[in-house]
Amino acid sequence: MIEINIINAFSDNYIYLIRNEQKKITSVIDPGESGPVIKFLENRSWHLDEIINTHHHHDHIGGNAKLLEVYKSKLIAPIYDKSRISNIDVLVSDNDLISIAGIKTKVIHTPGHTLGHVCFYMADEKCLFSGDTMFYLGCGRVFEGTMDQMWSSLLKLRSLPNDTLVYFGHEYTSSNAKFANHIDPNNKMLKETCIEIENKLEIGLPTTPFELGKEKTINPFLRADNPNFINSVALKTNNPNEIFSAIRLKKDNF
Ligand code: ZN
Ligand code: FE
Repeated sequence: MIEINIINAFSDNYIYLIRNEQKKITSVIDPGESGPVIKFLENRSWHLDEIINTHHHHDHIGGNAKLLEVYKSKLIAPIYDKSRISNIDVLVSDNDLISIAGIKTKVIHTPGHTLGHVCFYMADEKCLFSGDTMFYLGCGRVFEGTMDQMWSSLLKLRSLPNDTLVYFGHEYTSSNAKFANHIDPNNKMLKETCIEIENKLEIGLPTTPFELGKEKTINPFLRADNPNFINSVALKTNNPNEIFSAIRLKKDNF
């Protein structure tokens, strides 16, 4: 059993601090900043054993250096980013089975946002750390990879069990919800979920994590191969790759 603590960073980043109380192991995922992490650790007198990065962007690794200096933690990061992230101890690639906070974790390579991006899946804990690949009602912008790569990456994540809780990298949920409603206006489940989301945000609560099963029916970026949904976005193609690309481009300019 692990405890997953959500730490806010910058204006909308989420850092996840994982604590395995039984084994006394503490790990952090995507520490964009060190300050809030150190404060959190000091409040509980925890040592930081592991730092894990999903990809090389500064808002996910910016706290690495200071945390490594203070705690001498083990740094786990994608093999593709070996020259873009400093001081990596463990390089990971697709399908690797590793241990994070003493929990068996599968590495899932999800190129698209960046070429090296990886997500971390803990089957026994029913949770996924999706970085900037999948957000609540959204997905990451496609910077380094192709649209086809991003769609394939999202399909990999979509194939995980419905009861998986997804811990994502940015609080973009409100703007994602607006876009999802815009292109999928007749989705009742989406409407209901948006009310829940609004209620959370109104009282300052994070919307992370979300449940993957429901997400499969309401996140437009997971539904490019769904015939009903395709009709509602009125695109003249049945090719999921083209539909995904069209939806992503629409969102970029929304
Ligand atoms: Zn990023
Ligand atoms: Fe980011």
